[in-house]
Amino acid sequence: MAKYLFEQLADLSHELDNGMPTYPGDTPTSLEATSTITKDGMNLTKVILSSHAGTHIDAPSHFIENGITIDQIPARFFVGEAVVVDVSNVPTGSGISVDEIAEKTRQQEIRRDDIVLLFTGCSELWGNPQLEKNFTFISEAAARYLVSKQVRAVGIDSFSVDCFTSTNFEAHKEILGSGLFIIESIGSTLKQFLGTRILLICPPLKLISCDGAPCRCLAIPMS
Ligand SMILES: [Zn+2]
Repeated sequence: MAKYLFEQLADLSHELDNGMPTYPGDTPTSLEATSTITKDGMNLTKVILSSHAGTHIDAPSHFIENGITIDQIPARFFVGEAVVVDVSNVPTGSGISVDEIAEKTRQQEIRRDDIVLLFTGCSELWGNPQLEKNFTFISEAAARYLVSKQVRAVGIDSFSVDCFTSTNFEAHKEILGSGLFIIESIGSTLKQFLGTRILLICPPLKLISCDGAPCRCLAIPMS
């Protein structure tokens, strides 16, 4: 039986802070002190965030009319086994193909109800302006392939599962339209788990009727 190595837990989430990278055109993150211990006896902070700031979950309602919202995804879905697939040889800014995933998972089985995490290497360029509109994404066919594997969710360490210039958002629609959720902008700490299975814990904020929410994304290796 698999053993979870809790003492080796790793944080896969980006820091939420003023000036952090956001998807082009999205709300800039702002953290502003509204009270301080010196002046008011306590620290309080006003936080302004996009529902898709930093490492976050996309709920089906992000792209699907009448799709379920972030608060409607059962909380137990945010704790589960994940398979970490290395697709970093795909040139930055290109689409990940079915062949690429099939090749990489030949010896690394994708099981039903798995969370599939794709490591593109884009997370290592977090904050680099060149990456903003030129990140690696999932081709429509690859998204359909992952859905056909009956996985629970698809995660990626780049800004989006769709190409920046996409107007139809095929990968989002394919995945979210099948009732799965997406994890975007996973941190570069994912790299240490390439080719392995981990326990993933990624609960998003419980924002009512919302299309997505930032999450804390934690990896626990398995033996
Ligand atoms: Zn998103």
